[in-house]
Amino acid sequence: MLSRSLPTSSLRISIRSCSVGLPSKFIHTARPIITRTLASNRTPAPLLPSSRLSSITRHFSSTPAIQSKQSSTMAPIEVQQYDYIVLGGGSGGSGSGRRAAGWYGAKTLIVESGRSGGTCVNVGCVPKKMTWNFGTINETVHVGRHYGYDFPEKVNFNYKHFKERRDAAITRLNGIYERNWGREGIDLVHGRARFVEPKVIEVANADGTTTRYAGKHILIATGGRPNIPAIPGAEHGITSDGFFEIEELPP
Ligand SMILES: Cc1cc2nc3c(=O)[nH]c(=O)nc-3n(C[C@H](O)[C@H](O)[C@H](O)COP(=O)(O)OP(=O)(O)OC[C@H]3O[C@@H](n4cnc5c(N)ncnc54)[C@H](O)[C@@H]3O)c2cc1C
Repeated sequence: MLSRSLPTSSLRISIRSCSVGLPSKFIHTARPIITRTLASNRTPAPLLPSSRLSSITRHFSSTPAIQSKQSSTMAPIEVQQYDYIVLGGGSGGSGSGRRAAGWYGAKTLIVESGRSGGTCVNVGCVPKKMTWNFGTINETVHVGRHYGYDFPEKVNFNYKHFKERRDAAITRLNGIYERNWGREGIDLVHGRARFVEPKVIEVANADGTTTRYAGKHILIATGGRPNIPAIPGAEHGITSDGFFEIEELPP
């Protein structure tokens, strides 16, 4: 896996979200970039002969942008309407969003504040297993002489080379996730979401503006974060997130 060349970028079209027909006073924010991949033709949903499918499908119907309820003195805020909004593009959010869009035809939006693929791809399962392989190879080489292998006494390794390959593999996976979402017709917004109404979220855009999205159904799949215990010595430790940022092995 490490020896393969690892292309990174995904082909994408950026589509500005719609504000057609609204007087400018109704437009509260700069429009966000919503990303769709080139392969955005929706994959035909597999035929699932269950009554559950039809009952769920009935719940998911597309509707145009609406305006969020505000006090009567304030201008309404434009809100983009979705059948299904997923907060967090990790393992859980990605799996659920792809099923909603690909199987049930729901107009789906994924909001991701970090890197696509979440913990498992970026700072979990994937880099952990690659690092485990890196360490295991070293151990095997070390003990190989005792099993009759004619390894030299000292075999050098290049951690920097390994880390660059590992990072490149993860970047490639980020693109694969986003392309898969695009194939299902899922919109992707990069930003941090927060609830402003029970079924309306607000996303902070990179330029400091905010945009609102309403969903008939909203999945909170925001994962977790490391908890550093308040104990003496904790400042000397690192979390697994920090572990994958180490540029050089400790002496
Ligand atoms: C070191 C390590 C090794 C692991 N190894 C394995 C393994 O070998 N096998 C295994 O099965 N599991 C493993 N896991 C566990 C696995 O990574 C998690 O179970 C899985 O990633 C959880 O998926 P999730 O979708 O719930 O959350 P996450 O993958 O954490 O995704 C949540 C996403 O939500 C985003 N987000 C958070 N807040 C917001 C917000 N307000 N707005 C928008 N986006 C937001 C985050 O940026 C993140 O991308 C490992 C975990 C770690 C830390």
